[in-house]
Amino acid sequence: MEGGILEISNLSVHYGEGQSRTVALSHLDLTIRSGEFVVALGPSGCGKTTLLSVIAGFVTPTDGEVLLDGAEIRGPGADRGVVFQQHALMPWLDVTDNVAFGLKMRGISKVERRRIAGEMLSLVGLSEFASHKIYQLSGGMQQRVGLARALANDPRVLLMDEPFGALDALTREQVQELTLDLWHRTKKIVFFITHDVEEAIFLATKLIIMSPRPGRIVETIDLGFSERYIETSDTRAVKSSPDFIAVRERVLDSIHSRNHHFNTEV
Ligand code: ADP
Ligand code: MG
Repeated sequence: MEGGILEISNLSVHYGEGQSRTVALSHLDLTIRSGEFVVALGPSGCGKTTLLSVIAGFVTPTDGEVLLDGAEIRGPGADRGVVFQQHALMPWLDVTDNVAFGLKMRGISKVERRRIAGEMLSLVGLSEFASHKIYQLSGGMQQRVGLARALANDPRVLLMDEPFGALDALTREQVQELTLDLWHRTKKIVFFITHDVEEAIFLATKLIIMSPRPGRIVETIDLGFSERYIETSDTRAVKSSPDFIAVRERVLDSIHSRNHHFNTEV
């Protein structure tokens, strides 16, 4: 079975030099264990994508350490799968070839690629669309292809950067449910970014609230609504329960008071 621990310590990321230097992240610590679903919530520019990019290996830390199962992350790798806000699929390939793209890059045989892609498409409920072109799919289906592609390498870590931001409310809820079902089934480490407070509270086992300049974690909240969804499969009941609403209001208060504070300082 999957083990896995992601350990981020004293992470700082600066972009640029001198006058134009931006401190995107400053002295950030975060540990995520397999089976944890960590959601980062925070205003635009607080360093969420930078944090995800460091874990993905796209951005090199200015300072600090990022370890996956004890080994330092030095670049992108098949042990981490990324789902972007814009689906980043290849429109000239069909659904199967998009899902299998990373496998092809790794030199896996065609027969095996087809087998794995078929399995992943079944996981995300898209078996019937295996030969469709990307442009023939709705936005929600495209994000499910993105999820299938990220899972195809069987990564230890799933990284999702505002993946459902462009979807309508109903579709968004369906892919939230799908994501929790997959998380529960695969027990992967998940790091998920969103602007949406309700989405964050529904999905997270650990919610981190970030603030900008310099980007850092200002609050960490342990939550159990995703577990409750897994037990009941009743999203509406979870999201309309009094304790869910209470947490939602508390988090909104926390964000608003900090932004107000921030604005008055400038
Ligand atoms: P978020 O995802 O929370 O909106 P980002 O991680 O994208 O935040 O950005 C954090 C800060 O770093 C912002 O001020 C942004 O302008 C800056 N930044 C991000 N990427 C770069 C880059 N490649 N070069 C220079 N500055 C960047
Ligand atoms: Mg971002």
